[in-house]
Amino acid sequence: MLAHSTYDIAAVKYGALATMRSDVFLNYADYRESDEPTGLSYYFWVVRNGDRVVLVDTGFDPAVGARRGRTTLIDPFDAWTALGVPDEEDTTVVLTHAHYDHIGNVRRLKRARFVMAAAEYDFWISRPRQQRITRQVIEEDELAVLAELRASGRLTLIEDSQELVPGIDLLLAPGHTPGQLMLHVQTAEGGVLLAADAIHVDEELDRRMPFRHMCDIVAAADSYEIVDHLRTSGAVTHVIAGHEPSLMERFPTHPALPEHTIVLGSSAA
Ligand SMILES: [Zn+2]
Repeated sequence: MLAHSTYDIAAVKYGALATMRSDVFLNYADYRESDEPTGLSYYFWVVRNGDRVVLVDTGFDPAVGARRGRTTLIDPFDAWTALGVPDEEDTTVVLTHAHYDHIGNVRRLKRARFVMAAAEYDFWISRPRQQRITRQVIEEDELAVLAELRASGRLTLIEDSQELVPGIDLLLAPGHTPGQLMLHVQTAEGGVLLAADAIHVDEELDRRMPFRHMCDIVAAADSYEIVDHLRTSGAVTHVIAGHEPSLMERFPTHPALPEHTIVLGSSAA
């Protein structure tokens, strides 16, 4: 029974950016700390057991990433192939939010079904709010793909935190965006929180330094508290930040794609 409610998680590092701390943290100059080079890693995640496959985000379109100065380390489509992610109707794709580096390859999946927060869809698509500072992180034609999916019945919108399937909960954690989702996944090593962009890098949570792109800084502070509570209560053994470079050294590599992929929460590792 237990085997059917726990999952293995593969984290695929498909992209990278060399940047500066002042480009990572919001209003960095206000901290009066020296600026230093740093990096961001770009991930998506494959959550699976013998019964089902859940893809978490799709990465950026390599052409869009190049235009925005990001390096593609492996085309996400090639990574799906290497890891055996099926593009079938019973494959669920959770879109944690609508930024370009999370929905850029949605159009390449022809049969899979998608889930995202209604608050996210509403903010960008149903009743779009126009602010240059928030809309610089999205691609309008990629939002149009989501609208097409919605019209065709392949995109489900959720109003609140809820169970996706046994062993995987979707948790709303707004702030970075209005409908940012996290996933609480049961694994052989206990709960793993895929925080996606509710937490970009560990330091964002540990030192309460919001990321550069924020829709609601007050909501983000509440989301940090939710993540901290999950961690300190023992509900999760790992908090996985969505762009943390050090992850690749902290977890074992995946045999099918060892250069680009690590395994989270596997007792076999
Ligand atoms: Zn984002």
